[in-house]
Amino acid sequence: MTESDLREMLVLRGRSLYDRGYAHGSSGNLSVRLADGILVTPTGTSLGRLDPARLAKVSPQGATLGGDPPSKETFLHLAMYSRRPGAHAIVHLHCTCAVAISCLAHADPRNVLAPLTAYHVMRVGTLPLIPYFRPGDRALAEAVGAAAAQHRAVLLANHGPVVSGKSLDDAVDSAEELEQTAKIALLVAGRDTVPLSPAQVADLETAFPS
Ligand SMILES: [Zn+2]
Repeated sequence: MTESDLREMLVLRGRSLYDRGYAHGSSGNLSVRLADGILVTPTGTSLGRLDPARLAKVSPQGATLGGDPPSKETFLHLAMYSRRPGAHAIVHLHCTCAVAISCLAHADPRNVLAPLTAYHVMRVGTLPLIPYFRPGDRALAEAVGAAAAQHRAVLLANHGPVVSGKSLDDAVDSAEELEQTAKIALLVAGRDTVPLSPAQVADLETAFPS
């Protein structure tokens, strides 16, 4: 896929996420990996109104190579790409249900969504909670990078999810699955539930390796 194709696709997927309520205001950011850096959505821009010619291009070290100024959260993307060589796209959202889960007290921050469905296990897997950091705090990048080495998605406390994928569609689909599981977790909260067993999760991980 050419860079021009990737620019068009970022705009289409951004608009789709915005139109369906996964992003509000100018929240959320998307990126794709290029041979010489990444394309990322600009700062202060609604995902619903992206311009393919104005997407920011950033080097792996964070230097702006072109386009509008990049999202202030670009360092999260770079941290995750650096630890996940197979990741070619990243979606970061402030989507309602996942953010709600990120604000709860969790007994085990190593995995904050129970394996309620097979699709959650196949698309998201174990979801660690990254401690709260002030927006823009570069220490967050280190925490995300460390967790991303083992996890395709992480949840930032009191903030939202960061989800990687083999392609932009893969990352978008996984981010949507994460939000769906968060919604289900909130719906069933307080009721007796039957999550998948460790053996069932292990069977899925063997049958559908990430
Ligand atoms: Zn954010």
